[in-house]
Amino acid sequence: MADLDDRWQAVLRRDARADGEFVYSVTTTGVYSRPSCAARLARRENVIFFDTAAQAAAAGYRPCRRCDPDRSATSARNLALVIRACRDIDGALGQDGAEAPSLDSLASGARVSRFHFHRMFKKATGITPRAYLSSSRARRVRTELLRASTVTDAIYNAGFNSNGRFYASAPDILGMTPTQFRAGGRGGSSSGIASATVRPASPWSRSPAGECATLSWPPTRTPPCENFMPCSPKPSSSPPVARSPSGHAG
Ligand SMILES: [Zn+2]
Repeated sequence: MADLDDRWQAVLRRDARADGEFVYSVTTTGVYSRPSCAARLARRENVIFFDTAAQAAAAGYRPCRRCDPDRSATSARNLALVIRACRDIDGALGQDGAEAPSLDSLASGARVSRFHFHRMFKKATGITPRAYLSSSRARRVRTELLRASTVTDAIYNAGFNSNGRFYASAPDILGMTPTQFRAGGRGGSSSGIASATVRPASPWSRSPAGECATLSWPPTRTPPCENFMPCSPKPSSSPPVARSPSGHAG
């Protein structure tokens, strides 16, 4: 929508479909808005157009408080930060025996406060960082139980720093005991075990199809979905994760 008349017509219609295509600034007020802004219309001769909110800001205009034209840019930036945090969590749990990053370190990596990070994460993923960490660890432990030579190795490789902590949460994570889980794994073919790899988790694939599809063990039957926490998040069934001192990590 490069044509200025088309843009002005979109503004006159307050056409939300044009949001994201451009913003308009009002020279008399120094404010820029989305095309759909509900504020009183400016006179055409006082309106100039910019392709992006960033361009309007660079030209010295400030965002309209009513329509918040920076909103999409902000949510895209937050989403990128959340994706990076998820990768940090998965990456740390992917290293044998590694501790998961704390909420503090995730927040400082994103250069925001703990409170802001927690809110941003929950808004983007629908779950808290702590719940994400729990489900990531659960995926990791299922993989390790099939791969490691002993249950104890699997527990430590998955980042549980004690057997007791793991066994307390095993029924929630596995839907069965670790030994039963491993026995089931042996029942399958070796190719089945090899295929029990978990792709890097993405917080927006929490649908049953999205999450269960990532685990192809056992090869001939699909485990009940409720054994795989991300499909049906149940906060009360999360494995215990150290609470942060201020309590924001949950
Ligand atoms: Zn506005």
